Amino acid sequence: MKNKFSFLFFRSIGSRIALIIICVGIIPFLVCVPISLRAFESVSIHTDATNLMAQAISYNNQIVTSGYVTGEKNEVLDTEFKAIADSYNGRILIINSSLKIVRDSFSVDVGKTVIWENIIYSMQGESLYYYDRLTNYLIVSVPLTNSEGDTVGVLVINKSMDYLKQNEDVFVSYMMIMVVLIISITIVVAVVSGIRLSRPMKKMSNSLDSIIREHDTVLPEVKSYIEMENIATKFNEVIGKLHAIDESRQEFVSNVSHELKTPLTSMKVLADSLNGSEDVPIEMYKEFMLDIGAEIDRETKIINDLLSLVRMDKSGAVLNITAVNINELIEHILKRLKPIAEKADIEVVFESFRPIVAEVDEVKFTLVVTNLVENAIKYNNEGGWVHITLNSDHQFFYIKVEDNGLGIPEDSVDFIFDRFYRADKSHSREIGGTGLGLAITKSSIAMHNGDIKVHSKLGEGSTFDVRIPLNYIEKEA
Ligand code: ADP
Repeated sequence: MKNKFSFLFFRSIGSRIALIIICVGIIPFLVCVPISLRAFESVSIHTDATNLMAQAISYNNQIVTSGYVTGEKNEVLDTEFKAIADSYNGRILIINSSLKIVRDSFSVDVGKTVIWENIIYSMQGESLYYYDRLTNYLIVSVPLTNSEGDTVGVLVINKSMDYLKQNEDVFVSYMMIMVVLIISITIVVAVVSGIRLSRPMKKMSNSLDSIIREHDTVLPEVKSYIEMENIATKFNEVIGKLHAIDESRQEFVSNVSHELKTPLTSMKVLADSLNGSEDVPIEMYKEFMLDIGAEIDRETKIINDLLSLVRMDKSGAVLNITAVNINELIEHILKRLKPIAEKADIEVVFESFRPIVAEVDEVKFTLVVTNLVENAIKYNNEGGWVHITLNSDHQFFYIKVEDNGLGIPEDSVDFIFDRFYRADKSHSREIGGTGLGLAITKSSIAMHNGDIKVHSKLGEGSTFDVRIPLNYIEKEA
């Protein structure tokens, strides 16, 4: 449980941002402290060494001309050097050209030979310094030269750098105060920013919870970062779409049940009235049975249409694509529909501009032509006409179904492809439509990657334009 909590804590954006701020704020500071300490130390050593060298050089003439470097006695210099050495808490040595100590402010090593790299270099004319970190001493060696410029000895000054340590300690304690201050400020800034940054996300997550529990239907406007606002807007769009799908599903289910119940109710009424009356004449029985038969046909048609639609609606619905002679197929369909047209005295004319063979699913494509021509006959006036034209270019074939029938009201045109939609409900029922024909037609055309458009004028007629690719191109999953 504890592990899970700490894992979640590190995955939270707020704590991550807080950690980033802490790292960005503190790490550079922690790196800077030792670096500046080193810089402070080397600057101090270099300054001290330069000063000591200048001081040593200022004694050069006195030491050389007085013969102090060759061992001549000089009490003034002795006292002066002793005082300097004491003030530095250090030591002054004078070494002659044979690398022998001729003067020592401690007076303990006179006569001893010194073999040290820096002394040898100074004997060759170089002024050098060395800081001994172990003993905390700065050792400066400066060549002593005579008037001809020859090195006749070396002056060595040791200076205790304890003061540096003390300064460093003060520096470090100031730094520590600053570190503590900066760390505290950074932590406060980090925690506050972490909380502030993650607050809108928490708000959004709570709103989502409320949507899941169905207390809310949309995300409230989250005024924070643009990204969050965009997510909220997009999310509301998705919710809107889901609601629309849900509503259309509910509407579809209620329409289906209503449509399926209507013929059953009629049959029940017809059957009940026959059962409820005595001595019913045989003619009346026959008439009622004819009506019941008609209702059964209607129910069958609705069920068949629904099945066609469901089959096409399935996302994995497969098309059985073959090369189909479209001219022959249309002629065949028209032959089947001619008796219905003749009954209403409607003239059906088919005009083809060229022979066309296209890759289509014959069964599903037949539904397209059948529904369009059937509608053009159904929603027509006695003595009307239906013109079907077929044409193609190098990419598509085009079918136009035109009639001079009832036409569609302007405010209904946008809905005629919806399931169960009927422009003129009372009339449609009389005509015998299910309101599914055009929905089936549209699905089938979409499956063939085609397109359908309608132009209609109430009282003048309608034109349906269909465009389908000659060669079927399978859509990528
Ligand atoms: P239906 O089974 O009612 O014919 P459709 O989906 O085929 O269902 O058509 C939907 C509605 O569109 C019809 O009820 C009708 O009002 C209108 N409609 C379709 N085709 C035509 C047409 N050629 N002329 C006039 N109205 C039409």
